[in-house]
Amino acid sequence: MELHKYKINPALSVKIDSSNALLSFGAGLNSSRQWAEASAEDQQLLRKLCQPGARLTEDFFSPCRAFFEWALKNSIILRDEPSSERFSRHEIYYSLAGAEGEQTSQLAKSVVGIIGVGGIGSTSAELLARAGVGHLKLIDGDRVELSNLTRGIPFDEENVGVTKVEAVENRIKAVNSKTGVSGVAEFFADKKEHFEFLKDCDILLLSGDRPECIQIANRLSLQERIPLLQAGYVETKATIGPLILPPSTGCLNCEYLWAVDRNSSAALDNQNQNFQAASYGPANNLSLSIASNEIIRFLLGMPCELFGQRLIIDTLTYETLKQPLTVHEECSCH
Ligand SMILES: [Zn+2]
Repeated sequence: MELHKYKINPALSVKIDSSNALLSFGAGLNSSRQWAEASAEDQQLLRKLCQPGARLTEDFFSPCRAFFEWALKNSIILRDEPSSERFSRHEIYYSLAGAEGEQTSQLAKSVVGIIGVGGIGSTSAELLARAGVGHLKLIDGDRVELSNLTRGIPFDEENVGVTKVEAVENRIKAVNSKTGVSGVAEFFADKKEHFEFLKDCDILLLSGDRPECIQIANRLSLQERIPLLQAGYVETKATIGPLILPPSTGCLNCEYLWAVDRNSSAALDNQNQNFQAASYGPANNLSLSIASNEIIRFLLGMPCELFGQRLIIDTLTYETLKQPLTVHEECSCH
């Protein structure tokens, strides 16, 4: 029978107070320290486990079984799963965040669709590739403009004039050659080919702001039962969410119908032909950073904060607000 090996959780500081037979464990600035009593044998074992590169097999723990089980339950010692050099620091993060399973291989099997690869979608694509997502599907008909360079991290001056899809594809290939990438350099539309292109995605990021794009993405999400996360910014506020999971949450059409009920400006056509939305690199990157985090959490089966709600962060005051999505009775999503 093969014996499993165990290692100390690399994210923890471990302190031993021998005179009082006490151990303490902590991680990071704000986590509270855990205290535990430990016998001399437990302490000796722990010291051995804390040596650089130490990996101990199960039989080592036989004399300290109770300590072993307690430490395993509290993630103080971990099963020594094979980890890749590239993602090892991410794996430490996942262990702190309570993720279970083999995260790197889980992400490598995942497919994420990105509708709109402007400032938000392009940089999110890069973060997801860096995290080891297996395949990215990009759709956007726009070309890179000089004004995009304030926020889209994958875009360089030499990309001005090329399609955003092509620029991001090239960037992804350079960042992580193991991440597959396919793109359609057309504006997302209610077309069979576009739905076919995206229908095998595990999750969709919607970062296009055209109203018709929102409704079409919503229809695709409902029709194919694909979770859809919206991310963007409004004036000086970064907005992330809602993450909709048809049919258990409401949908973006519910939100539209509520806006019509309130006769709010969100449901009215803007007549100002000179209108330009504000864009600001830090707000853009704040929004996509949280969106990328939600996508990774979803793909790893971790709890997602933004199911059925939108997070709004004011970049001037750093005040945050969570805005729940409510199902609208007249919407066909439920
Ligand atoms: Zn709905």
